[in-house]
Amino acid sequence: MKFYIMFGPPGAGKGTHAAAIREKYNLRHLSTGELLREEIAASTTLGKQAKELIDKGSLVPDEVVEGMIRSQFEHTEGTNGFLLDGFPRTLRQAEDLDAMLADMGKEVSAVVSLMIPDELVFTRIKGRAAVEGRADDASDEVISNRIKTYHAQTEPLIDYYKAKGKYHEITADGETIEINRQRVLDLMEKLQ
Ligand code: ADP
Repeated sequence: MKFYIMFGPPGAGKGTHAAAIREKYNLRHLSTGELLREEIAASTTLGKQAKELIDKGSLVPDEVVEGMIRSQFEHTEGTNGFLLDGFPRTLRQAEDLDAMLADMGKEVSAVVSLMIPDELVFTRIKGRAAVEGRADDASDEVISNRIKTYHAQTEPLIDYYKAKGKYHEITADGETIEINRQRVLDLMEKLQ
């Protein structure tokens, strides 16, 4: 059972490229952002609490996303593994993920990191806002906060996974989605 992490700043294309990888390698795509948006759409208590934080560009509490991931790991039938998109996003989440996988006798297979400069984060998210209509994509202030949150809380994971020899990076600043998708697929091939 494989456990790949799609890593990168907001707007790097994690969700977009996850679709191609998922099909090719028969992996289950788990996006914590999407799972949270489903909770918001269903107006659950968790969804209401998460919405306030997401709309500010902050992270939701570690135990909330970890609970969601843990319950998804219970369904492994018919799949070669998981493609984690947007998780882990803090050091605590990374450590807890390692513990969760160790309990299952498993480990993280590799981190597939998509890097883009901060300026491109803005352009990409603005473009996406028009198509997907996400509230957290609409305001410059919220996008700035998400970039700050990424640098402060998520970027330290690069060193965490480098130290374990699991970190693999591509530059995802190509002109078209196809160019970047090819870079991701080439990296995935190398990791097999
Ligand atoms: P993006 O990659 O564009 O930031 P996501 O869909 O991955 O979009 O995440 C949207 C929001 O959901 C994040 O800004 C954050 O508030 C929340 N979120 C998603 N994943 C996590 C996580 N692992 N830990 C905490 N908050 C998360």
